[in-house]
Amino acid sequence: MTQSFYEKYNLEDGLSLRRADLARQEQVQVELLQMHLMQAANTHFYRNLWQQVDFSLSQVDSLADLQALPMTSRQDLDAGSVAFIHADAELPADITLTSGTTGEAIIVPYTAADLDRLAFNEMMAFYSAGVRPGDRVLLCVTLDRCFIAGLAYYSGIVKLGATAVRSGPGNFARQWELIHKLKPAAIVGVPSFLLKLAQWGEENGTNPQQSGVGALVTIGEPIRKSDLTLTPLGQLLEEAWGAKLFSSYGATELETAFGECAASCGGHVHPELMMVEIIDDQGNPVSPGNPGEVVVTPLGVKGFPLVRFRTGDVARLHVGPCACGWQTPRLGPIEGRLAQRLKYKGTTLYPEMIFQALDEVPGLGPYYVEVHSAYDLSDEVRIVIGADEELPMESISALLQARLRVRPVVVTRFKAEVVAKIENTDGRKIKKFFDLRKVI
Ligand SMILES: [Zn+2]
Repeated sequence: MTQSFYEKYNLEDGLSLRRADLARQEQVQVELLQMHLMQAANTHFYRNLWQQVDFSLSQVDSLADLQALPMTSRQDLDAGSVAFIHADAELPADITLTSGTTGEAIIVPYTAADLDRLAFNEMMAFYSAGVRPGDRVLLCVTLDRCFIAGLAYYSGIVKLGATAVRSGPGNFARQWELIHKLKPAAIVGVPSFLLKLAQWGEENGTNPQQSGVGALVTIGEPIRKSDLTLTPLGQLLEEAWGAKLFSSYGATELETAFGECAASCGGHVHPELMMVEIIDDQGNPVSPGNPGEVVVTPLGVKGFPLVRFRTGDVARLHVGPCACGWQTPRLGPIEGRLAQRLKYKGTTLYPEMIFQALDEVPGLGPYYVEVHSAYDLSDEVRIVIGADEELPMESISALLQARLRVRPVVVTRFKAEVVAKIENTDGRKIKKFFDLRKVI
């Protein structure tokens, strides 16, 4: 069974599979896929679903056969996530909560084997980011509040034989004290926090570039654009620390994470842990290098085994051998959420693209993007910038035209007004996008 597969599996096995040709990888994946589907067939949701479409497990002997199966959406989870829980997971080792599309929390139980599998996932991701046994890694992410990311990083570091420093977010003075004392080789955190941490260091007589930190593993905010170059935030971060950036992406319900290697060309697909498809609006596969919705089938999950899960995130898959020596495909940066896709004057836009363009304007104040329904099947997009003095509107407009190929309406408000609007949410994240479209 799957549990024994990961039990016997170690770093060397993982490295050798990633360097092997795709035929060898597929052989391993088919076997793991069959076992994963057997787990899923024991859940209420998939048993019912597959009965309806007259699918039997004996039909799967290649990866292409997966496409015969219906996909699973976030709405399916919202409708009752308990139907996805395998009977073995009645006594899970960890309960994780994630927010559903309706805002209701979804319970995702992790069995002990699932936690071990995730530790293996993160061990491989840290290894590809250059972290080695004996290195210290400062974790500036939370390990509590039923989030999985911090716990996953922690267990991957430990499994690799490196040393975790569980500092958590916040408190710049404490973070710097730990950096000086413990000399971590890498830091894990949210990009905007890591930038503030560098700035705090500079203001307090420390040069972050001489801190010995060589790698920044980032979570939550994009640091790369769709063409894989750094976003303005990514550039600032890399310059401030003089360190290399490694973006990571995962989803709680998928129990799977992608991590970048030194070639900086997307997060590697881990062949014994996941299968990735990119689809268009009709559900058909999109050719490599083109954007579409990311659909993931994790492999080897025990407690909450999802199959063909539509993430709602848009990205591209890059195939062909990677410069790092691994043969596995890479998932490019998340370009936007499907639910936030905007139709504006014949162009498809995501709020993230507008943020990245605005972040190129030096010293620009706080801003947000608002979208309303229009009458012509287009959306009405408005950018609101907080400024107490006059802005160089013409150059902002020209930049938007160059980056987005359209010029959304730009208006200004008092800075305090904009700050109040974007921070007036649950306090976890600044909200920069307000979707006021009517659902038709
Ligand atoms: Zn690589």
